[in-house]
Amino acid sequence: MQNAGLAALGLNWRYLAFDVHPDQLRSAIEGAKVMGFIGLNLTVPHKMLALDMVDVVDEQARIWGAVNTIVFQARSASGQWIPLGTTDSSRHEAVRSHGFNTDADAVLEALKKFLGVPNLQGLSVLLLGAGGAARTAALRLAQEGIGQLYLVNRTQEKAIEIADRLAKSCPGMGVKQGYPSLSVDLVINATSLGLKTEDQLPIDKEWLQKHRPRFVYDMIYRPFETALLRTARQLGLRTANGMGMLLHQGARALELWTGRPAPIEAMGAALEKNLCG
Ligand code: NDP
Repeated sequence: MQNAGLAALGLNWRYLAFDVHPDQLRSAIEGAKVMGFIGLNLTVPHKMLALDMVDVVDEQARIWGAVNTIVFQARSASGQWIPLGTTDSSRHEAVRSHGFNTDADAVLEALKKFLGVPNLQGLSVLLLGAGGAARTAALRLAQEGIGQLYLVNRTQEKAIEIADRLAKSCPGMGVKQGYPSLSVDLVINATSLGLKTEDQLPIDKEWLQKHRPRFVYDMIYRPFETALLRTARQLGLRTANGMGMLLHQGARALELWTGRPAPIEAMGAALEKNLCG
């Protein structure tokens, strides 16, 4: 996806994957900085750790409590910090790492553009899971003005933690634990259940069949159609997988590195080809 985006922008950069042990993350970030990397993406389990390892944390990343994108910035002659990728020279007196989070907005983009949710304001949402992705989604949806959030997670303490945080930051929004007795507008699966074919459904199937929510979103993109999405589709519900979220977080990261609009169609086509052939 990123290499297709770089090619479409005519940039001779390469996007590469590296396995880094969490204990070595600080060294990896510093190493990338001194070697002149343009930027980095981080994934589990590095996103929260990186908050304390970058030179500057963007306000949104601090709110979501996770960094998934790092932009290396050089100080310009006028004293401003600008992305390395937008500078001509490869020699810079000062370079810093700036941490961003592009996941949170990507959830919204995916719900709107891929699932067709017209407006999140006032909607009731059942969120399955309370890990990093669920937490980011819950906080971003709350910021967007959803009306009611129901949290279901295997480890209830983690869901309670999210509810407590929301009670402080969004006191006007209703947050409850467990399944609602009525239906909701939107169900989001943010658990890892569905990644393996033998996984059980992340939702109570009877509840789903009885209440038939309008929209079902699964953050998982591989497999392309999880058992949850298949079940929901067979019930006639509107569904989308996590591809849109992956695409939009990547597109925004590319924009931060290059300072240019992301070639979203080229990136989406490459992603889709890679994920579903
Ligand atoms: P975390 O490890 O932080 O959270 C995992 C979540 O899944 C927790 O709520 C955990 O519950 C739950 N879970 C795991 N195993 C089970 C099980 N056997 N039974 C019930 N619940 C279980 O991961 P993330 O939050 O980072 O990712 C969650 C999902 O979202 C993953 O599937 C990931 O692939 C997807 N994702 C997709 C993205 C995209 O761009 N489309 C981006 C990020 C994530 P518990 O708290 O009890 O452990």
